[in-house]
Amino acid sequence: MKAGAIHGRAAEMLDRRGLTEAVARVQREVMAGLGKPARRGGAAGGPVVRGHFAGIWALRETPYPAAGLTMIPQDRLEEVLAEHAAGLGADIRRQHDLAGYEQDDTGVTVTVDGPDGPYELHAGHLAGADGGRSRVRKLGGFAFPGTDGVITGHQALADLDDPDFAPRGWTRFPGGLMVNGPVPGRLLMVEFDGPPADRDAPVTLEEVQAATRRITGTRITLRSASSLTRFTDNARLAGTYRDRRVLLLGDAAHVHSPFGGQGLLLGLGDAANLGWKLALVARGEAPDALLDTYTEERRPVAARVLDNTRAQVALLRPGPHVDALREIVTRMLDHDDANRYLTGLITGTDVRYDLGSAQDLVGRCYAPETTVRTPGGEVRLADLQRSGRGLVITADDAHAAEAADWAGRVDVVTGSCDLAPGASILVRADGFVAWTSDDATPLGDTLTRWFGAARVPAA
Ligand SMILES: Cc1cc2nc3c(=O)[nH]c(=O)nc-3n(C[C@H](O)[C@H](O)[C@H](O)COP(=O)(O)OP(=O)(O)OC[C@H]3O[C@@H](n4cnc5c(N)ncnc54)[C@H](O)[C@@H]3O)c2cc1C
Repeated sequence: MKAGAIHGRAAEMLDRRGLTEAVARVQREVMAGLGKPARRGGAAGGPVVRGHFAGIWALRETPYPAAGLTMIPQDRLEEVLAEHAAGLGADIRRQHDLAGYEQDDTGVTVTVDGPDGPYELHAGHLAGADGGRSRVRKLGGFAFPGTDGVITGHQALADLDDPDFAPRGWTRFPGGLMVNGPVPGRLLMVEFDGPPADRDAPVTLEEVQAATRRITGTRITLRSASSLTRFTDNARLAGTYRDRRVLLLGDAAHVHSPFGGQGLLLGLGDAANLGWKLALVARGEAPDALLDTYTEERRPVAARVLDNTRAQVALLRPGPHVDALREIVTRMLDHDDANRYLTGLITGTDVRYDLGSAQDLVGRCYAPETTVRTPGGEVRLADLQRSGRGLVITADDAHAAEAADWAGRVDVVTGSCDLAPGASILVRADGFVAWTSDDATPLGDTLTRWFGAARVPAA
């Protein structure tokens, strides 16, 4: 088990796919285990924790739900996603290892080591979501530049003989960082004297216990661990996320330390960005070049995360010099502008893709709670996007008629959206606004750009 929580922006992506209730159910269980009620409201059960930067818990809750965290362990989130994917007809094969692949103009041939022996698959595209040590990335020769790790981190879920051996929460000891909680027995610790000697060696309880004792100077004993993880802070970013028919997403495309809990936000954001584009290209409805926008939009977002996690490692080191720097950062976060800047950076709420529009709204992601006023009543914008298609909301008959030529790729709803009251608006399947009628570009040009050429009416 690695992640324990996702940011609100990630919960919003799940909301658009109709997974809010499934995620909220898990969060309620987690919060009950912590003895705390899960608050309703907002995405996936609402924000429950304020944010932090390098353990400085000064990021404020904002009225905007995406600034909160949703407590869901990664393995439970994976269960929710697997069930959803299976329901959509995905063929999920566990214990089947990608061993190799080759691509040509017609597609990608993948060699798989399955439980019953090796076999081949042929597909139009290969999306490598196979983690930080991605074989898809390595075999494809993708450049993966960045910085080497300088820390050795461990995470454990175990029984502790003394749960109060260290204060709950984040404590910087002279020997390193100890995070005790939020669930009982969950420890995350970091030593700052270099990367692990052998990253491939199995993680043992003895190793983690020794680190716990070194950092805290106690004789704490760990037993019956249900999860032990070792990590470091090498920060690397693929030079491109696409080589013709092969794509990278998630940790396969970017690795960084876990501070700020941003890995799943990035990975889910990659998937939300790539999924609808790949579907259109695979069906031959949009040109191949649409896939280039995937790297263009997502790579800068990951580059920011790499940098902010590097900054957090610097701010978490022990010692009086860093103490002084943390005090300055803490005081700066008393100022609204500074607080808003850092909250936007860590939560991803300030991400704006450069889609070439002068309008600030274009290239930004909407909040699922956004209201759409239709003749039949008010609807949440997220609830109109369950189909995974683009969406035009308009009260203008001409815009509705134009968008009808993209039927099957773009839905049309009569009404007005609170994001741009009175205007027509085009929202992509990933929740990013692609156009409003205040834009200089005509709607048809924007639809062609994102959803391929219009359907030719039957003669
Ligand atoms: C200690 C720790 C705490 C963290 N906490 C958080 C947090 O609170 N919030 C957060 O958002 N992020 C957190 N992260 C980061 C987060 O866990 C990662 O970003 C996330 O796991 C990346 O997901 P992924 O699917 O890209 O890769 P992975 O989770 O690594 O999944 C890759 C998958 O590919 C499979 N695979 C690998 N090779 C092959 C192959 N050859 N053939 C077939 N399958 C293959 C693997 O079995 C695995 O199932 C944390 C990370 C660590 C280390």
